[in-house]
Amino acid sequence: SQQPSIFKVVLLGSSSVGKSSLALRFLKNDFREILPTLGCAFFTHMMEVDGKALKLELWDTAGQEKYHSVCHLYFRGANAALLVYDIAKKDTFHRAQNWWKELENEFQPEEIVVILVGNKMDLEDSREVTFEEGKTFSESNKLLFMETSAKLNYQVTEAFTAIARELLQREEQHGGP
Ligand code: GDP
Repeated sequence: SQQPSIFKVVLLGSSSVGKSSLALRFLKNDFREILPTLGCAFFTHMMEVDGKALKLELWDTAGQEKYHSVCHLYFRGANAALLVYDIAKKDTFHRAQNWWKELENEFQPEEIVVILVGNKMDLEDSREVTFEEGKTFSESNKLLFMETSAKLNYQVTEAFTAIARELLQREEQHGGP
C-alpha cells in the first residue's frame, strides 16, 4: 500500500505565546502551566483527514532569539507554518506579522501553507488583538486563520486539521508536497 505523505510543519512566534502548549495539546491532549524546555525538537504525528492518512513532522523550538540565527535551517523544507501570537499581547501579533514577511522572502506562496493562530483566546478579559484584526491580516495575505486555546482545548485539532487538509489538497493539485 502507499506510504502516507510526510509534511514538515514549523511553529513560529514570540516566546511564551503557547507554541509548545499547542504542540502538547495536539500530540498528547495535555496542558501544563509549566513546560519543560525542550530546545529544538521535532515530533511526528499520524493523522487522518477526509479518509486520507498523512504524517506531520512538527518542529518546535525553545529560545526564539537563539534560533533566529539558524532560522534558515529551521525553515528549510518546511511545508507548513503556524504563526502563533497571544491575543492578550499586541506585540506578539506584530512579531507574527514580521515572521510572515520572513516566510514570504523565503518561499513561493504555493510552496508553504501558513496558518495565523491567535492563541490564549480564553484570556478574553485582557484581549489586545481583536478577532477582526487577525482575520483581516490573514485574509489580505491569503493565510488560514484561527483563534485557539491550548488551555481549554479549543480549536487546536481544528487548526492542525485545516493545515493538513490544505496540504493534501495542494498535493493532489501539484502531484507532490
Ligand atoms: P512557547 O514559548 O510559545 O512555546 O509558549 P509555552 O507553550 O511555553 O506557553 C507559555 C505559557 O503560556 C505557559 O505558562 C502556558 O501554560 C501558557 N499557555 C499556553 N497556551 C495557553 C492558552 O491557550 N491559554 C492560557 N491562558 N495560557 C496558555
